Amino acid sequence: MIKNIFLLFIFLIVSLNYANFDFNLISIAISDEEKCAVIKNREKTFILTEGDYIENYKLTKISDTKIYLENGEKRIIINLFSKNTKIEILNQKKKKSTFLNSRKTKPVFKWPCKLHKISSGFGYRQHPLGGGRLFHKGIDIPVHYGTPIYAAADGKVKYCGWFDGYGKIVILKHKKGFQTRYAHLSRILVRKGTFVKQGQKIALSGNTGRSTGPHLHFEIRKNGIPINPLKFLPHDEKK
Ligand SMILES: [Zn+2]
Repeated sequence: MIKNIFLLFIFLIVSLNYANFDFNLISIAISDEEKCAVIKNREKTFILTEGDYIENYKLTKISDTKIYLENGEKRIIINLFSKNTKIEILNQKKKKSTFLNSRKTKPVFKWPCKLHKISSGFGYRQHPLGGGRLFHKGIDIPVHYGTPIYAAADGKVKYCGWFDGYGKIVILKHKKGFQTRYAHLSRILVRKGTFVKQGQKIALSGNTGRSTGPHLHFEIRKNGIPINPLKFLPHDEKK
């Protein structure tokens, strides 16, 4: 499955000459979920998704053909297929490893609440409300009703509101195709489309949706696929 994600990367190298923008080399990586712009100058490589900053410019949009940068006063549109733009398709294998080696931008997650304890783990289990064996796509953290819930990493609110069995949910989108979900909430404190910082209070826990009692259901997904959050959360001694 993971393999497919990388097979979908399309890499383009573009040489640019902008008088007021001294990054002369730009490439784009496209995954099935998220577009990244790989901007290089002589010293550094920046891997950016929408909303990131580079030299006071905010990357506002990445389309298949253009990159939009803005700094309040000025807007730069880089057209990747203009006739002045030299496009070279690179050896995909070589480019892929360069991209994968850039681990710096991978989000580092923190626990979504003060309690670092689980009542139900990730993976197959007997469904607590009957119905046989089910795949549990996240972890359950046994917090009391009304406990503050914090963003596990910097991100953007992709969705918040009611979502089937999840009840009231907040879905955050992070860098590198990662997503976190916070479910069965009693109150949502953020709005769709806004950016949140790691540790920012985003909701209060609850018991909404298909839930047997107050707790937080927490998921981490990579390119839409649920992964075990415990592999990404810091381990600590106190229980
Ligand atoms: Zn759960």
